[in-house]
Amino acid sequence: MSEPALQSARQRLLIVDDQPANIRVMAEALRDRYDLFFATDGARALEIASAGDIELVLLDVVMPELDGFEVCRRLKSDERTSRIPVIFVTAREEVGDEARGFDVGAVDYIAKPIRPPIVRARVQTHLELKQARDLLESLASLDPLTGIANRRRFDVTLDAEWRRCARNGAMFSLAIIDVDHFKEFNDTYGHARGDDCLRELAQTLRGVARRPGDLAARYGGEEFALILPESDANAAQTIIRRLFDDIGSLALPHASSSCAQIVTISAGAVTLIPTETLKASLAVESADRLLYESKDGGRNRAHHFDVINNTREWITGSIQEQ
Ligand code: GH3
Ligand code: MG
Ligand code: MG
Repeated sequence: MSEPALQSARQRLLIVDDQPANIRVMAEALRDRYDLFFATDGARALEIASAGDIELVLLDVVMPELDGFEVCRRLKSDERTSRIPVIFVTAREEVGDEARGFDVGAVDYIAKPIRPPIVRARVQTHLELKQARDLLESLASLDPLTGIANRRRFDVTLDAEWRRCARNGAMFSLAIIDVDHFKEFNDTYGHARGDDCLRELAQTLRGVARRPGDLAARYGGEEFALILPESDANAAQTIIRRLFDDIGSLALPHASSSCAQIVTISAGAVTLIPTETLKASLAVESADRLLYESKDGGRNRAHHFDVINNTREWITGSIQEQ
């Protein structure tokens, strides 16, 4: 999902019409407010829209080869472009079955001949609606305390990345992370300092999940998760080591912890190749079991299981034990 557009950035519009004269009239009405992209056929329109960052499409209905209805249908069925609002721009006599445009996912119709104030008003309305929708969607997927992905976003991403890796036969790694002796931390320093601690840990987690497709999420309470698609055992272990190093460098004091003088974590991680028949929850369950082995093993450590090679690896925090 894209971040909400910055107010100051000019929004990018795609104008599609097989008649360059029509494009010119619309461009005249909109060029002072927006960055404009043009296509004179459906195939080119789909190419530009899927390349990213288009915020709204003005789409002619009657075009040779791919007509507007088909272009709209394809935009709506592609995850990369499905959230872009589409406004049909068409001559009244060409409208035909107006309902069909809404059926394929359009948000509005504008009638030709084009009247610039009408085009500007409709475009602005739908851009505002899109911004509000994007904002709602990003709020619904963020954990309010830490600002990283919440459980809902974790579930959706896990499912999508799992299926993507299954389709591509790609490796997939997942880590579940739990703060050590966090109840004692709250008891010693108070709940507010506990919240600060979770915020710092969340940012550290986000810092190690840097590749596109990686996701750092708050799984619940003082538990976090890392989704690492297309990561083999080596890549997963490197990321977990970096996480332990970075949390060690934070050096958040934890006087009442029985395993170190600073805040530490325990983790369980698994690497496997997903299949269509295996459930993603299987990875969560096995990472969870490995996490509890890390707790039983003395905390401040991770236990990683590489299902593909049937190998196990312990990673321990470098900080000094008490
Ligand atoms: P262990 O090492 O076995 O994981 O022990 P623990 O104390 O971390 O585990 P336990 O499950 O007993 O306690 C978890 C604590 O995390 C208790 C709960 O109050 C605290 N916690 C969960 N969510 C939040 C939160 O949002 N803010 C704060 N400050 N504390 C939280
Ligand atoms: Mg036409
Ligand atoms: Mg804990």
